Amino acid sequence: MSRPTKITIDLNALRHNFGCVRSLTGGSSIIAMVKSNGYGHGLVRVAEALPETDAFGVACLEEGRLLRKAKIKNPVVLMEGLFDTTEINQAAAGNFTLVVHQFEQVTMLESISHLKNPLTIWLKIDTGMHRLGFSPSDARRAYQRLSNCVAVRKPIGFMTHFAQSEAEDKSFTTDQIKIFNEVTKDLIGPKSLANSGGIMAWPSSHQDWVRPGIILYGASPFVGRTGPNHGLKPVMSLSSSLIAIHDLQQGDRVGYGGTWTCPASMRVGVIAVGYGDGYPRNAENGTPILVNGKICPLVGRVSMDMITVDLRSQSTAKVGDPVLLWGDGVPVEKVAEFSGTTAYELLTGITRRVHVFESH
Ligand SMILES: *Cc1c(COP(=O)(O)O)cnc(C)c1O
Repeated sequence: MSRPTKITIDLNALRHNFGCVRSLTGGSSIIAMVKSNGYGHGLVRVAEALPETDAFGVACLEEGRLLRKAKIKNPVVLMEGLFDTTEINQAAAGNFTLVVHQFEQVTMLESISHLKNPLTIWLKIDTGMHRLGFSPSDARRAYQRLSNCVAVRKPIGFMTHFAQSEAEDKSFTTDQIKIFNEVTKDLIGPKSLANSGGIMAWPSSHQDWVRPGIILYGASPFVGRTGPNHGLKPVMSLSSSLIAIHDLQQGDRVGYGGTWTCPASMRVGVIAVGYGDGYPRNAENGTPILVNGKICPLVGRVSMDMITVDLRSQSTAKVGDPVLLWGDGVPVEKVAEFSGTTAYELLTGITRRVHVFESH
């Protein structure tokens, strides 16, 4: 038997979550975000499971091409747009939609005097995140120039991105929506603001197109909440099994650096998963692990290939018993909380050696 470390991708859960987005947003069209290998779930796998989506969102041309190679016909939006002029013909050939977020990209598009199939574009406006987009004062000038490009299909869409849509404090997002609405108020074209946080907490931001990412995969964008709290189902589960069990004495230290000392004589289990698989190295003592369906705490430092677990509540556990690191019963958000990171990072961080299975 091979190393038991694997992820299982539940495509029914994915479709369930997509349905939740549909019912939350009513008439809005959906750009299902599948960048970074579908948040670690498999780009093509996720896309093939959501044929009814109105578009897919990826970061770049290379990701878009993988979708076209797999015969995915839906519109595909390149969220970072063009990196250089040579990408224009390739974008047209793949029928990709571009986000245009800076004047360098406008200049690239202006350099094209003929394009058989003009490109659909979204003009990105920076309403306060200060990552990508034209400032509100530059947006009109960018719009005018793009309107004159033969390479650009009309109407042009308008997009912004929220910096704090998941935050308790509502003031920042309120301002972002206000700025966006002001800048675009007399401009004709589709509008798109909402990421997962916007979809769940800001109905006024839904408008024409929404861009769900993390909620499609069944995790919550809100600190202290989990996907199942919102009726979402986790899509990925990471599992493995016990590969060794030791009876240790009070005072024995476990793992690299001896960061955990047995407070009593006890059983400690070894599980075949580590940071070499994408399990977070910063996971602290106490991080929940499901062993034989029961929560047990992580003890000691996470190694590349292994972790150790407190089995005091499992007197009959044996080598080969099943372990769930995250999934149904151990929210990935909880593991993230114990590791100083987010569900986003954990889901996208699974490494290549982990076996992948699908359930339907
Ligand atoms: C990744 C991304 C999203 C999705 O964000 P979530 O928080 O995962 O919903 C939406 N819009 C843009 C532009 C993105 O890059």
